[in-house]
Amino acid sequence: MQILVVDDSALVRDLVTSIVVGAGYPQPLPAKDAREAKAHIKRSVVDLILMDISLPGVDGLQLTRQIRRNLKDDYWIPIIFLTVKDDPDYLAAAIDAGGDDYLVKPVNQVVLLAKVHAMSRISKMKAALDETNLQLSRLTQIDALTNVINRRGFDESLEHTWRLYRRNNQELCLLFLDIDDFKTYNDNYGHPQGDRCLRQVSELFKSCLRSDSDILARYGGEEFVIVLPNTTLRAAEKLAQKILHRLAQEQIEHQHSHVAPYITTSIGISTTRDGATTAQKLLSQADRSLYKAKSNGRSQICCYEDIGQSAETEL
Ligand code: GH3
Ligand code: MG
Ligand code: MG
Repeated sequence: MQILVVDDSALVRDLVTSIVVGAGYPQPLPAKDAREAKAHIKRSVVDLILMDISLPGVDGLQLTRQIRRNLKDDYWIPIIFLTVKDDPDYLAAAIDAGGDDYLVKPVNQVVLLAKVHAMSRISKMKAALDETNLQLSRLTQIDALTNVINRRGFDESLEHTWRLYRRNNQELCLLFLDIDDFKTYNDNYGHPQGDRCLRQVSELFKSCLRSDSDILARYGGEEFVIVLPNTTLRAAEKLAQKILHRLAQEQIEHQHSHVAPYITTSIGISTTRDGATTAQKLLSQADRSLYKAKSNGRSQICCYEDIGQSAETEL
């Protein structure tokens, strides 16, 4: 429990410090004004702030408003005001500014410790709630059938990866995969078997990825995408070849496919070196390449650099 004590009086800071340290809390961080308080909040994780209202320059109420405005919702710091003014209107204004409790000076040791204890309890409950929410939001991004990231999760990770790419400018490749003749697979082997096949294929795709930063997602139906940060087009092509090869080895029977007697996929590849200016353009370039791989006969790879302009005019 890291406490920050903001008070322009060294005497009050020392008194509060000795009370909380005496009760077993770690040494609090001291700040004599808003500037020092903000520096601490920036540098360390603060769990509770004990704050004087009348501070030189930016006062406690203004500082509280700034903290509430600037910190994200998932970083809530309880704030208890310490003030000499015992006035209900003043108390209401302090709570209104974003404070959570109010203590009148001179500080009574028992009351101060009881309030610190209560706030630390609320703070722990809030942290547990945040963690649950985080896990829930992760769950909403997982595809229930294949256990890989779903479309929603993919959209978010692609934007995130794109921002990283803009920052370090390392080549980024995207693979768009679509299982060939999957409708006839469903029609002939039944939907439950189709589901098992999708699970098996996504496991196979996953086993071909090389690092934790590679992202596999189910884009929808029998379509998957793979995002490869910091990867050259040649390496992306190699990975695509490996997937085709592994599918040929796996021999998931598909007697009704007019491509091969087993499950195959077509793959479109795009790279940031082809001039995509947004993540969505990179995706649509991979999609166009996939379309070309399909029309060229399926169970094959097509790179956007090989179709470039012709794809623009055809579609
Ligand atoms: P193409 O080679 O051109 O890709 O042909 P296709 O038959 O694979 O493509 P099409 O888009 O005509 O059919 C896709 C099929 O994928 C249709 C649908 O029944 C099946 N499908 C989509 N989602 C699921 C799913 O969650 N489970 C199962 N079993 N099948 C699905
Ligand atoms: Mg499809
Ligand atoms: Mg298909």
